[in-house]
Amino acid sequence: MNRQEELAANVAAVRARIADVCASVGRDPGEVTIVAVTKTWPASDVSLLAELGITDVGENRDQEAEPKARACAHLGLRWHFVGQLQTNKCRSVASYADVVHSLDRSRLVGVLGREARRAGRTIRCLVQVDLDERAGRGGVAPDAVNRLAGEVASTDGLALDGVMAMAPLEGDPEPAFARLAGVVERLRSEHPHARTVSAGMSGDLEPALAHGGTHVRVGTALLGAR
Ligand SMILES: *Cc1c(COP(=O)(O)O)cnc(C)c1O
Repeated sequence: MNRQEELAANVAAVRARIADVCASVGRDPGEVTIVAVTKTWPASDVSLLAELGITDVGENRDQEAEPKARACAHLGLRWHFVGQLQTNKCRSVASYADVVHSLDRSRLVGVLGREARRAGRTIRCLVQVDLDERAGRGGVAPDAVNRLAGEVASTDGLALDGVMAMAPLEGDPEPAFARLAGVVERLRSEHPHARTVSAGMSGDLEPALAHGGTHVRVGTALLGAR
């Protein structure tokens, strides 16, 4: 199998998993977006994925994402920044990212907003929810989500799109995604247009979709082991 055939088989397999879980919980698979997480993989893979109908690409490190997004600009993809973000990277990220999944503090909201305005762009933002206090992977506590979301919504240059979360590294992801669904319900009571729920990766997209995920961030299952 060449790389193109390999990626085609992987995309088909991920789409089949999404279709299966949607059928079992009565959801429309058309409302689920695959964000292909291409970190560590070359721009040539991004190009092959685009040919296979992938429209959304995710990266977690600015140093890698910036040149890759530039090399792939002609493909017309949406770029998602999914990693932990530092304020000194906001200018660069604001130059190519359409969606930032990892807003988790006020200072970041202020700086990203300023850089978005400077670039003349509107960046869609997700508040990252910490479902695993011990892991230190970023995110705000569930009860602090609405406050930060309010700051995003009132910042010019940023648009509040929803939330992102990762299940705890250990244990059953199901209760964590169930808890996330409660966070989303409270968020939408104040911000009904915050529709995006970025949840689920290669190993846990089924429980994430069962609990209302709209965007799955899939690396390994599409591209192979890093
Ligand atoms: C790498 C990464 C993913 C993809 O993980 P896989 O297990 O390879 O699917 C998803 N989300 C974030 C934030 C990541 O850094």
